[in-house]
Amino acid sequence: MISPYKNTFRVSQAYRHLRSDGTYHQGYDLVGIGDKHIYSPVYGTVIRAGWECATLPKKGFGQRVVLRVGCTNYYMYFGHLSQINVAAGQKLKPGDLIGVEGSTGHSTGSHLHWEIRINDIKTGYVSVYHYAGIPNMPGSAAYTSNWAAEIFGPGNLKKPTSGYPQRLYNSALQGALGINQDGVFGANTEKAVKEFQTAHGLTADGIVGTQTKAALSKLF
Ligand SMILES: [Zn+2]
Repeated sequence: MISPYKNTFRVSQAYRHLRSDGTYHQGYDLVGIGDKHIYSPVYGTVIRAGWECATLPKKGFGQRVVLRVGCTNYYMYFGHLSQINVAAGQKLKPGDLIGVEGSTGHSTGSHLHWEIRINDIKTGYVSVYHYAGIPNMPGSAAYTSNWAAEIFGPGNLKKPTSGYPQRLYNSALQGALGINQDGVFGANTEKAVKEFQTAHGLTADGIVGTQTKAALSKLF
């Protein structure tokens, strides 16, 4: 699974939970167990960092960070932070510190609201669950993501793939390879994968499986 926590966390509200006002919860609410630091799970650029509304600290996401994933049209939202460690325009790689979980904005207890949207618009919600693979069930179960291997997603990456959530996994791969992060696994990505595999003594088949992921994860 992929998560913005490096240590143990739990789910306090599920993606698509139907709220009392009739609207759906469009992200996960996650709570760090002990360690409250929030890290970027992607190669991306900080689009916004700070208060959603500085004069209304109880509004919306409160202190939030919005990241654009590579050069894709996908945006990650990290809401209710107590502390922000990044600034707009900053480029992040997986594992870079974004901030600290908190309860700013419309919130009743310390948690992270983590959401993914396409095109950075309010109707652009996509399933963070299908990207992250964290069980979509609130409760006390404690999870830990394996940062090194899992940011490239659960399966093999190979040509030709795009669509969601593969586009985000491909973007992580392209970020690690240092090539254009459009999230589309096309001929250029396949070529870069084969070169990487050759340089690292792996079978140059252009398919990103367990061994290639392990070698790539040493790059960040
Ligand atoms: Zn939430």
